Amino acid sequence: MTKTWNHFIDGKTVEAETYFSANTPCTGQAGAQVASGTAADVDAAVKAAERALPAWRDCRPIERGRILTAIAAAIRARLDDFAAIERAEGGKPLWQAKFEIEIAAQYFEFYGGLVNLYQGETIGLGAGYHSYTRREPFGVVGVITPWNAPVNQAARGIAPALAAGNTVVSKPSEFTSGTTVLLAQVAAECGLAPGVLNIVLGEGATVGAAITEHPGIRKMAFTGSIRAAREIGKVAAHRIIPLTLELGGKSPNIVFDDADFEEAVGGAVKAFVVNAGQICLAGTRLLVQKSIADRFVNALVEQLKKVEVGPGDNALVGSITTKAQYERVQEFFDIARDEGAKAVLGGAAERREEWGEGWFLPLTVYTDVTNDMRIAREEIFGPVLTVIPFEDEADAIRIANDTDYGLAAGIWTQNLGRAHRVAAAVEAGQIYVNEYSAGGVETPLGGFKQSGYGHEKGIEALHHYTQLKCVTIKL
Ligand code: NAD
Repeated sequence: MTKTWNHFIDGKTVEAETYFSANTPCTGQAGAQVASGTAADVDAAVKAAERALPAWRDCRPIERGRILTAIAAAIRARLDDFAAIERAEGGKPLWQAKFEIEIAAQYFEFYGGLVNLYQGETIGLGAGYHSYTRREPFGVVGVITPWNAPVNQAARGIAPALAAGNTVVSKPSEFTSGTTVLLAQVAAECGLAPGVLNIVLGEGATVGAAITEHPGIRKMAFTGSIRAAREIGKVAAHRIIPLTLELGGKSPNIVFDDADFEEAVGGAVKAFVVNAGQICLAGTRLLVQKSIADRFVNALVEQLKKVEVGPGDNALVGSITTKAQYERVQEFFDIARDEGAKAVLGGAAERREEWGEGWFLPLTVYTDVTNDMRIAREEIFGPVLTVIPFEDEADAIRIANDTDYGLAAGIWTQNLGRAHRVAAAVEAGQIYVNEYSAGGVETPLGGFKQSGYGHEKGIEALHHYTQLKCVTIKL
């Protein structure tokens, strides 16, 4: 039986007039039917969120924490259901879907536990005055997410927004709607009151734009492309509402000749192949010190040849998630060839028998790359690595920072002084030393330069989902 994904508004499933077919990257066959939302659906969702706000905002924080913690447990209890959907719609290997969904549970667990720790402060003004601050929610928050880690990214925005006492209207990517709807259903079963979390499905230009423009939305959190961020940013600027942007990256992964060689090779593989490279944080510019560059690339390619890419549950790498992205990565194969880069692995579309009609692509490594080439400057969002050799520490920092982005950087060295020097000098919001993508729901995530502004994750996110009020009393 074909599944249908409907809106979830005011605690109820709401059907649509029209539906479109869900994304099915591994098979190319028809998937679920997905509701195509309208501005009227967004209006209904925002009004429900406004009605639900006073009770949610004004309840004891401990009550909010209890529900968020219950949602974490319920996500874990339904892990297989969530994972099956993300596998079908996103093309992820099963282990990877489960890994990301576990982290979604951790967001609710983490922020559910923080509700009472995040308070205002008293400010000394001498005798005769009492001054204090309050951290207040904005009201109704809009959360718009992309397709590469659907419920994980939804939870990353929704959990801190709710913990801080906001109510939410969220829109998942039209390509991967299922698990965000399931999240809202699960949350309702855990006692989240109708209207506190509403999901409207549909396209960015209609539903996404309607959320951003709705006068009831008091803050926006967006994860996705720079293109959409610019559109949303214009509206947010006009409406004078705060906006958090988590955008793309072209992150350098810097390997010095004093690094633990084997660890760094394994780390360089994981940095760009996980989720078929469709991770904003991916370490896609491998900067290797010249003295070890040839040996390093040889070892890297040997390891990559052993990586399973395909539809298997335990393959390390699954398919590209959308058809458009599948085609876009292949365009970069042509661009690389025209720019004179050398593919030492992959670099052309293949049709392996086990891939069937799925949107799988070979792992690809380019050498003979300079940092001014498009393949070194533009986010490809596929399993494609560009290798750029460097002379010394200063050269590594110069190349690392020669980018419009600033989301993440990896540093591989056994020299503690160098690790700290380079960490301070690289312009990126996340620095990983000797383990790419180290960190968890506890560590703040934000971009420098065109990778965005504001922060998600960690205690830091709560600053972005609250507004500060200062009360001063003459005694
Ligand atoms: P996208 O910007 O096209 O879509 C993201 C979301 O925005 C979708 O829900 C879409 O429907 C919606 N949207 C599109 N246009 C809109 C508009 N005008 N108004 C409101 N909403 C709109 O991006 P994508 O293709 O889904 O995702 C890939 C991009 O996202 C990559 O560039 C990647 O780097 C970035 N990304 C960043 C992070 C991060 O945390 N920094 C995480 C994942 C993805």
